[in-house]
Amino acid sequence: MPENTPSASELRPTHPLALAPVAAPPASVDGFVRRFLQNLNFDQGVALSTSDDNDRYLALAGTVRDYLMARWLDDQAQQSRQQSKTVCYLSAEYLLGRQLDNNLLAARLTEIATEALAQCGIDIDDLRALEIEPGLGNGGLGRLAACFIDSLATMSIPTIGYGIRYEYGIFRQAFADGQQVEQPDAWLRLGSPWDFPHPEAAQTISFGGRTETYDDDGVERTRWVPEWNVLAVPYNMMVPGYHNGRVNTLRLWRAVATNAFDLHTFNSGDYVASVRAQTFAENISKVLYPEDSTPQGKELRLQQQYFFVAASIADFVEHVLPDGFDLTKLPERVIFQLNDTHPVIGVPELMRVLVDEKGMEWDAAWAITQKCFAYTCHTLLPEALEVWSVDLLGRLLPRHLEIIYRINDAFLLEVRERFGDDEMLIRDMSIIGEHPFRSVRMAYLATVAGSKVNGVAELHSQLLRDNVLKDFARMWPEKFTNVTNGVTPRRFLRLANPELSTLITETLGAGWTVDLERLRGLEAYADDPEFRERFAAVKAANKRRLSRVLAARDGTTIDDGHLLDVMIKRLHEYKRQTLKVLHIVSAYDEIVSGRVPVEKVQPRTFLFGAKAAPGYAMAKHIIHLINAVGEVVNADPRVEGRLKVLYPSNYNVTLAESIIPAADLSEQISLAGKEASGTGNMKLALNGALTIGTDDGANVEIRQLVGDDNFFLFGMSEPEVEALWAEGYRPADFYHEDERLRRAIDLIAAGAFSGGDRSVFEPLISNLLYDDRFMALADFGSYLDAQERVDAAYADQDAWVRSAILNVARSGFFSSDRAMRDYLDRIWHATPVH
Ligand SMILES: *Cc1c(COP(=O)(O)O)cnc(C)c1O
Repeated sequence: MPENTPSASELRPTHPLALAPVAAPPASVDGFVRRFLQNLNFDQGVALSTSDDNDRYLALAGTVRDYLMARWLDDQAQQSRQQSKTVCYLSAEYLLGRQLDNNLLAARLTEIATEALAQCGIDIDDLRALEIEPGLGNGGLGRLAACFIDSLATMSIPTIGYGIRYEYGIFRQAFADGQQVEQPDAWLRLGSPWDFPHPEAAQTISFGGRTETYDDDGVERTRWVPEWNVLAVPYNMMVPGYHNGRVNTLRLWRAVATNAFDLHTFNSGDYVASVRAQTFAENISKVLYPEDSTPQGKELRLQQQYFFVAASIADFVEHVLPDGFDLTKLPERVIFQLNDTHPVIGVPELMRVLVDEKGMEWDAAWAITQKCFAYTCHTLLPEALEVWSVDLLGRLLPRHLEIIYRINDAFLLEVRERFGDDEMLIRDMSIIGEHPFRSVRMAYLATVAGSKVNGVAELHSQLLRDNVLKDFARMWPEKFTNVTNGVTPRRFLRLANPELSTLITETLGAGWTVDLERLRGLEAYADDPEFRERFAAVKAANKRRLSRVLAARDGTTIDDGHLLDVMIKRLHEYKRQTLKVLHIVSAYDEIVSGRVPVEKVQPRTFLFGAKAAPGYAMAKHIIHLINAVGEVVNADPRVEGRLKVLYPSNYNVTLAESIIPAADLSEQISLAGKEASGTGNMKLALNGALTIGTDDGANVEIRQLVGDDNFFLFGMSEPEVEALWAEGYRPADFYHEDERLRRAIDLIAAGAFSGGDRSVFEPLISNLLYDDRFMALADFGSYLDAQERVDAAYADQDAWVRSAILNVARSGFFSSDRAMRDYLDRIWHATPVH
């Protein structure tokens, strides 16, 4: 290189544009049109006249991105400059829903974009419909993560959401002959305009191998000698706050084969093996496990968990913290929130980083680690508590297993000091379980390591303290707390229900979107006939809108005058979709047996939305039964169209946004003590559906808030469930005692919904009559009585609408903004940065 020629790295920008901060395009229709056409021409490489809808959608998404970009870059720079505490939300799932509308709303661009596209001859609704939602989650847990990061951005809390960019998200559900068929969700097929890959910020993540000790200046240390690596490449998504100019980051990791890994095999001359190895590495982020609550202990799943957590911790330590940061101060800069046990392997990983890589003493590292994690438990079902076999964990992560053993040794010593040598207690509390196989109990590891442990509704947190984690709660009562879940009012009211939003804004002003308690102001209008009329008109319009959506996708409709009764949630025995079906079958039987004159029947449309885990046979039988009952009931002329069963396939966030605003009745009928919280219940109440529900999860709090007059309570309480279980649950007793129940069961068993074939639903009926851990038959009578109260209440439309208004008015507590405030006060102690 000739002398005096500066190298590239010495070049300093001198052009004025290069010195100025990034500027957003002008927030005007003209500015939007110009940028949109630029994106269409230069990014999509097409002219407006030759572009198709997908080009236009991608250009539109790119334009919205451009508007948010300046703020995003600014907030990222600020995050590394400032020493404020960051919430790192670690979640294996984010069920985001569509991005376009949400981002337009957050950036105040909805009207500008609509008009700008209209001036280009494009109807924005056509482009909206094109977006495939990233289904990177199964259900409630993943949707909760998405609501939380929305609220944190809206509250200007420095946050990074960390997760996995699955190439295939939750499967697409279709029905064939009434049975579920799963199809791959190729959500990236048409491009992914909302995320930005950053290969330069990739992390190398190791697996396998062995550990060894070595002498480090007279100190014996341990290091991990792994066997293979993958690259974790971050893809950043924008998480814009609502109208506050804040843009946080959701960083999702994708697995890519490392060069080193490739070369090693390649040099051995086996090209085919080398390519296969590449595929093997990339499998890690290939597919979301479609399970709801029964972890399968599969090796690839553990690989996924370690992969994203190790990448996230390394990313935070190396890229987010400033160079030379004093790691003893880590708890002042970060809290890693563990969304269920999926990210718990992060505990030994942080210990490994601090002790093995940074040379910290064990005790100092443990003190730091304990302050940096907090754990949210999401279940009460014992089978849902994740365990990893020691064999598998030791093979995949040998150093982590050693660290877990050492954590456990110290912990069990503490237990002995505290409670004496009670060997039974030691076994019960040990992080290592011995039965039925030697395993690591991840919930226990999280509880031991976490600064706080929270349940997700009052009842759930109480049951965690009293049952699931009772020994731990006795040891550390101050560790345990509750944060009742919430949902974002931006997506689930403002966007999903524009007409109700307009009515609320006209009545109360605009502030409710970020201060949902203001909905209380609607109480004063519950008795105002004019307001009631407008409220009822909104509900009716939402039903017609849903009817159009269903007509377009399935050719079904919702008839005027029908009560819309919805049960939308994952298919699981504990949620008891069977109880709902038994109600429908019973109502049908009453008509066709002539016990109730058809003209006396309140017209109702029963709407289900639910996916079953592909390996969950009983759940699939239930899906089949719902569809089979629907086919018979909907076609039977004796019913005169008064009962109708709809089961649109592929329930997801997008479909939820159409169904929820239209619903009259929200079915939350889990066996008491089984549903941790539920969030669907909150979304529906917030949109003016009345709940029929058990005293379970957040139903308890919903009922307390909306009042008994505006809620249909039924079924056993949690202590009653325990008592019946202890005494011995005999479903056959209920069958024999309740004639309506017997007739409904007999109708199914006789083949009335399976063309006379008695074998089809035999497993399901046998389960209900002899096994059913979730005691559907025990609550049937009480459920039917409650449904009669529903019919009676609906007959008085004025009173019903009043109750619906009061449900909206009193649901402000269920905003995820409030949930975030509770996490901040009780667990995170982080503050907003404006
Ligand atoms: C809210 C939501 C859930 C959770 O529903 P629950 O009734 O609480 O189980 C599941 N799936 C989707 C798509 C949701 O939006």
